[in-house]
Order: sequence, then C-alpha cells, then structure tokens
Amino acid sequence: MSELQLPPAFRPLGKSDIAVSPIAWGMWRLAEDGRGAAGAAKLVHAALDAGINFLDTADIYGFDGAGGFGDAEALLGEVLAAEPALRERMVLATKGGILPPLPYDQSAEYLRKAIEDSLTRLKVDVIDLWQIHRPDILAHPQEMARVLDDVVASGKVRKLGVSNFTMPQLAALNHFLGEKLVTTQPEISPLRIDCFENGELDQAMMLGLTPMAWSPLGGGRLAAPESARDIAVAEALDVVAQAQGVSRTVAAYSWLMAHPAGIIPIIGSQKAERIAEGTQALTVQWTRQDWYAVLVAARGERLP
Ligand code: NAP
Repeated sequence: MSELQLPPAFRPLGKSDIAVSPIAWGMWRLAEDGRGAAGAAKLVHAALDAGINFLDTADIYGFDGAGGFGDAEALLGEVLAAEPALRERMVLATKGGILPPLPYDQSAEYLRKAIEDSLTRLKVDVIDLWQIHRPDILAHPQEMARVLDDVVASGKVRKLGVSNFTMPQLAALNHFLGEKLVTTQPEISPLRIDCFENGELDQAMMLGLTPMAWSPLGGGRLAAPESARDIAVAEALDVVAQAQGVSRTVAAYSWLMAHPAGIIPIIGSQKAERIAEGTQALTVQWTRQDWYAVLVAARGERLP
C-alpha cells in the first residue's frame, strides 16, 4: 500500500524564505482562564521547546474576556517584554480587520491603524505574517492592496495572508498586491472537509500559498465526539492512532498534514502537554486507504 509523504521538519511559508514548523500553535483562547503573563509564558515555552516556531494570534482574540479587544495580543506582548529573546525563536502571525461583533473593516484608514495597534500591543517592531481575518465586502481589493504593500515596504510586516476568504476574493486581492499573499487560513479538520473538494486547496497549491487549518479538531469536538458522524470520523482516526501509538488528536493533525498542499494545523489547546504532544503528528504515516477512510466517514457516504 503506498504511503503518503511525511511533512518536513520545516517548510517555507508560501514562496517566502521564512521557515516554519509544519504545525502551528494558536492563541485564540490564550486570554481565557485568567492565566496571566506567567501562565501564557509557560505555553509559549511549551510550543517553542517542542519545535513549534509558528505562533498565530489575532487582535480580536480575547475581546469577550476581562480585558477586551486586543487581550490575547497584549498578553503575548507582556511575555515578549519579559523575555525579549523569545521573539527571535518564533514566526509571529496575527490578524485584523474585524471590529467585534461587526462590522468587518478593511478601509485603508482602519487597516493602517489595526496594524499599528497590533505592533504596539505585541511590543514588537515587525509582524512576520499579517492576515486579514475576514473579508470586508465593502472594501475594494485595490485599496486594501495599496495599504498592505505600504506596510510591507515600511518593514512593519514581512508577509501577508488572508483567512476565511472565498477563492475569488483571494484572487482579486492577490491580483492587486505587489507583495503577493503567502498564506490562507480556512477552517479545515476531519469534521470540516469542504476545502478538499471545493478548490481552495487547489488554489493554494497553484499560487504557492501555505494553507493554515483553523480549528483542526473541530473546536475540540473530535476529542469528545457526540453525533453519529463525529463518532464515525473519530473511529476512523482511532484505527491509525492505535496502530501507531498516538492519540486521536495527533492522528487528526497528521491527517491534515498528509495532504499535498502542506496544510499547517493550528493547535488550539492551551495546555502545555497537549501543545507539545502535537509534534508527534510529524511521524504518523498515512496510507491512501486509511486517509480516504477518514474522508468517507466525514462525507457520510461512499466515494463515487
Ligand atoms: P481545536 O484544536 O479544533 O480545538 C481546541 C479546543 O479543543 C481547546 O478548547 C482544547 O481545550 C480542546 N481540547 C479538548 N481535548 C483536547 C485534546 N486532547 N487535545 C487538544 N485540544 C483538546 O482548535 P481551536 O482552538 O478551535 O482553533 C485553533 C486555532 O485556530 C486558534 O487558536 C486560532 O489561532 C485559529 N482560529 C482561527 C480562526 C479564523 O477565523 N481564522 C477561527 C478560529 C480559530 P484545552 O485548551 O483544554 O486543551
């Protein structure tokens, strides 16, 4: 049975010269639980020490918590201020463009301010990857491109990406950008399989974009599946997990990583041991048969 390729220890971010681990850690939930800067620092160390150098946050993360908008970025900023050497060890990704709960705003004025504010909260001079979090239907892609090219030229942002964009929205923005996109960040998991057949991953491969998968465990549902479909997917993952001595969640990350587009799952856990465990996914070997068995379970019907 032919085996699918294992991920490399590092991969380039899109067509750039930035090397990232094939699995990332996300800080959506960092500002929850009142863990404070010391608790956040432990998690940052857990990721970096495990070999995960790609860290994803957003200005909106934590907006519904105690500190409000910018909370998760500010917490990471405190960690970086206390230990500046950590900055060199990470490829720092953040996002902006949503004013909670609405509207989405990618006007030139707002984009410039959002990026400046993120730099201030994170207490850094440069953001390695700045992503538009959700598309603003009212923003012209040429206008967005002008601002984004400017911030890259100014050295405040190294590379650009998008999240939750449709394929035409991504293509339109990329058309106008001088500094082309390097990433796209849709929701992808064994429970969210649209991207495998709707062309998004094909577009990513065609344009040389790195796809980053948000909620790779379906927001945690795969760890405690309830519906018949979720249970069927979990069982298909368990076959490989048990055969290779890893947890189901590790099998889920590795299932995404086996795709030829080089999907980078973003671990969502805020527990040090679970973050570190995620890197076991680099060694899990998939056959076509096992891979398709998970897909079929998620489809809920046989392949044509
Ligand atoms: P996820 O991995 O699908 O879910 C993580 C959740 O599952 C956590 O609450 C975690 O809790 C829980 N969980 C339960 N058992 C677990 C286990 N055994 N191993 C790992 N986690 C377990 O990811 P997510 O948090 O929804 O999203 C991941 C990242 O994607 C975010 O941090 C963010 O960077 C990105 N994201 C982006 C968007 C976007 O629109 N671009 C949207 C959502 C998320 P514990 O913390 O207790 O482990």
